[in-house]
Amino acid sequence: MPVDLYLKNGRVITETGEVYRGVAIHDGEIVELVADNRGVAARTEIDLGGKLVLPGLVDDHVHFNEPGREHWEGYTTGTMAAAAGGVTTIMEMPLNATPPTINRQNLQNKQAAVRDKAVIDYALWGGLVDNNVADLDDLHAGGVIGFKGFMSASGVDFARINDDVLYAGLCKAKALGNVVAVHAENEWVTGLLGQQLRDEGRIDRAAWLESRPPATELEALNRAIYWAGVTGGPLHVVHTTIAAGMQAAQTAKAAGVNVTVETCSHYLAFDEADFVRIGPAAKCAPPLRSRAEVEALWQCVLDGLVDTLASDHSPCPWADKAPGLENIWKAWGGISGVQSLLPVLLTEGVHKRGLALPDLVRMTAGNPARIFGLYPRKGSLLPGADADLVVIDLDAEWELAVEDLFYKHKHSAYVGRRFKGKVERTLVRGKTVFEHGRICVEPGYGQLLRRSTS
Ligand SMILES: [Zn+2]
Repeated sequence: MPVDLYLKNGRVITETGEVYRGVAIHDGEIVELVADNRGVAARTEIDLGGKLVLPGLVDDHVHFNEPGREHWEGYTTGTMAAAAGGVTTIMEMPLNATPPTINRQNLQNKQAAVRDKAVIDYALWGGLVDNNVADLDDLHAGGVIGFKGFMSASGVDFARINDDVLYAGLCKAKALGNVVAVHAENEWVTGLLGQQLRDEGRIDRAAWLESRPPATELEALNRAIYWAGVTGGPLHVVHTTIAAGMQAAQTAKAAGVNVTVETCSHYLAFDEADFVRIGPAAKCAPPLRSRAEVEALWQCVLDGLVDTLASDHSPCPWADKAPGLENIWKAWGGISGVQSLLPVLLTEGVHKRGLALPDLVRMTAGNPARIFGLYPRKGSLLPGADADLVVIDLDAEWELAVEDLFYKHKHSAYVGRRFKGKVERTLVRGKTVFEHGRICVEPGYGQLLRRSTS
């Protein structure tokens, strides 16, 4: 019996390093990876012309602001941008939407609000805030893939956690077989430094960098890892920006602590000088780091110290960035980047620094799917896995233009940047959702994913 689709004459890379030429797909699932160019009976056949094929990216860190703040992004434009960037599954954060995803009712509201909006598959984070440890059972039962907490203030309606709630959340995550993720920055020292700088009348871009130095990130990361070690609770540290943080996590792992670490494309693509040049569109927390830190972080990526690579896509209307042109404290913090995650890794990683493609696959697909309970359905090309794939022209050189962006608000720190390596086609469950600049499915094609309880 012929299969539905056969992608042939490609260069298919898995995280274990095997290279195949073709992919046979039926009913939206991988049937077989084909090592040579032999024929496979198929209803539809696509000749890839030697192009690179990777498992679709699983971006474990995006903010799409729906419900309640969908005028910032929303699931339709957010997932369209993700598809254009080769991302086939996103995990969406519990904050910067209203209400935040911190209890059963809000989770159900969110699931209802975003149904029929996405063009790729999606999973939801639950929130860990200062008063909801009792709600984590319900959130887990509702399928959330993790519990996200902030060790420093998050800005809007999402209360910071102190060590008591972090401790209790880690214990609960361990009991449930789930994971706590933290934004690790020291609330008190970043607060003090920021106040000192504002008292001095500093409103320039460098002041933002000076208010959140690497030591304030490292202290919080070490504290979270300490409590993960004490409790045995699984911990994921999001957007780690510094090599010292990666090394601390590595030391803890070696001692048996259940910790994983993420870094994000903007910490690998930009440095402090870029921030001073670009301004509000590149404001984020933790902030961009020095060139030496960026290169040290890259070395951690190359050395296998990084578990996941994500975008932390955090959009907003330009009106929330513009006041920062005059006074950097007044800009919303967050970078629109889900569409640029893979191009950054191909350009800065694979081409410039020799990042091996299987390692890229492990950090962008296999590991996030495993850590958050979606593997092997997502993040793998094993028989029976969802046929989520990205076809890439690895040598195409191009420049990101405003018109290329699918975001609701057409601004990004990456606009004008040169890339080498371009997404040509993205498939989700065997169906092409993006091809050559166009979205090919209707909103609603994307499905809600739940954390596997096994
Ligand atoms: Zn985030």
